[in-house]
Amino acid sequence: MIDQLSEPIKKPIIKIGITGGIGSGKTTVCAIFKTLNVPVYNADVEARLLTNNHPEIVRRVRELFGDDIYKHGLLERKKVASLVFSNKDLLHQLNAIIHPIVAAHFKAWLSQQENYPYIIKEAAILFESGGNKQVDKVITVTAPQHIRIKRVMLRDKLSEKEVLNRINNQMPEEEKVKQSDYIIQCNDIDLVIPQVIRLHEELMR
Ligand code: ATP
Repeated sequence: MIDQLSEPIKKPIIKIGITGGIGSGKTTVCAIFKTLNVPVYNADVEARLLTNNHPEIVRRVRELFGDDIYKHGLLERKKVASLVFSNKDLLHQLNAIIHPIVAAHFKAWLSQQENYPYIIKEAAILFESGGNKQVDKVITVTAPQHIRIKRVMLRDKLSEKEVLNRINNQMPEEEKVKQSDYIIQCNDIDLVIPQVIRLHEELMR
């Protein structure tokens, strides 16, 4: 009894979601948090890895789209994107396969993060996937649309029209901002590192 009482009370780890539209600067902001030793889970990267490697996902995605949707062990992402683009039901079925397994993977990762007061989950579709309900606070990274277009055209070698298509397929940035607890401006004027440090200090308190 005395032993139980003398055990230190463990504070639950705070979960912070980071989201933002394509090219807003999420990954750049997360890289700054990482330099402060904050554990970061990149849901988009993990989902991509699990989609290629998790046996249950691979089996069910093959059932949904046919065996040739994987080439040399990698999902034909462009083909999938064009198939689900005009078929919301197919998109829903695909998400129903992937999201629960990524959520379980995140939970398992989270259970191993015990040495830090807070962790970050980076996800482009945090709100759209309902992932915002799995975290305590949400940070949205924002940048003006013309800057995001310019960045993604340069980074991914895409045309302006292709980038715009992707932007128009995501939840509008203003909507994300409205539903967020914190905003980080990642434009050409505001310095990003001081904004991250300020937030970090607040979250560590
Ligand atoms: P996506 O959703 O497409 O993965 P993202 O929100 O993670 O994008 P980043 O990859 O961080 O965005 O940034 C997009 C591009 O813009 C990168 O090439 C990055 O180096 C550049 N970038 C990000 N922030 C800034 C900034 N403040 N000033 C200049 N360039 C930036």
